[in-house]
Amino acid sequence: MKVVLLSGGVGGARFARGLVSTIDPTDVTVIGNVGDDLDVLGLAVSPDLDSILYALAGLHDEERGWGRSGETWEALATVSALGGEDWFRLGDRDLGLHLVRTQALRSGEPLSAVTARLARALGIEAEILPATDDTLRTWIDTPAGSFPFQEWFVTRGHRDEVDGVRFEGEARPAPGVLEALAGADAIVIAPSNPYVSIWPIVAVEEIRAALVARRVPCVAVSPLIGGRAVKGPADRMLARMAGGTTPAHVAGCYEGLIDALVVDESDPAGPLAVRRIVTQTLMTDLDASRRLAETVLGAAA
Ligand code: GDP
Ligand code: CA
Repeated sequence: MKVVLLSGGVGGARFARGLVSTIDPTDVTVIGNVGDDLDVLGLAVSPDLDSILYALAGLHDEERGWGRSGETWEALATVSALGGEDWFRLGDRDLGLHLVRTQALRSGEPLSAVTARLARALGIEAEILPATDDTLRTWIDTPAGSFPFQEWFVTRGHRDEVDGVRFEGEARPAPGVLEALAGADAIVIAPSNPYVSIWPIVAVEEIRAALVARRVPCVAVSPLIGGRAVKGPADRMLARMAGGTTPAHVAGCYEGLIDALVVDESDPAGPLAVRRIVTQTLMTDLDASRRLAETVLGAAA
């Protein structure tokens, strides 16, 4: 069974780990969000792709949910001491990856090719693809003004309420993305933030069109549990922009794109336009991620 997973960072990476331990990893293609990508200290950083890479390589920090385990922060301390740009946290181990990627991009290698090379070097068997090799950036509209994603998320601590999200840049799917979607037996949308992790992927018009025209089931996993985000602003964003945090509000973010929604046992019942699958969706460890992946694949079979 060939599966394509659309994924953001933390929630997506947790689910991806379960998926590749449930089916043959070579049958899995993860399409990652690049709307959060940024340049910091002259380095090209792709936070969501990196969360996926680290999780699938077993190098991730389980507690923090992002970055590498056993991380140290000496380089950043030096940056701070020198009055450099230190608002975005880059660990010493993590920096090594950004150095390699930045050099490759500068020499003209597309992001998809660098990502594939990094995945191979880390011993990852699943295919990891950025949604696009083009520059596509998420902007957040708030009552205090419009901000690039990371400025809103990190610098402003995602405190501003969100009135809208926008995606800047003309983007074509990265090589392999449409092929993976065309060859999939099932498409899965990870329990990621719909607005800022999944929407930037389907903001690539040809990806959205491929999903709309799908001939195989597409199953989304809700990132909310009992109407609350496990982490981050997804619940507040849904409450304000969709008018609530029930499964119907989550499904509404994926109108025309999904056939089923996997929700947690603690989520409210009520009408839903797509098939509802109820299970425990909290991924406390690899076993829980694997059980969730099995349920999702069962729903897609
Ligand atoms: P980001 O790019 O790092 O923000 O990560 P994602 O968008 O992929 O994931 C963020 C979302 O993951 C949040 O809305 C969380 O509620 C959700 N999430 C994190 N852990 C879990 C979990 O164990 N179960 C479920 N259902 N959602 C989770
Ligand atoms: Ca992200």
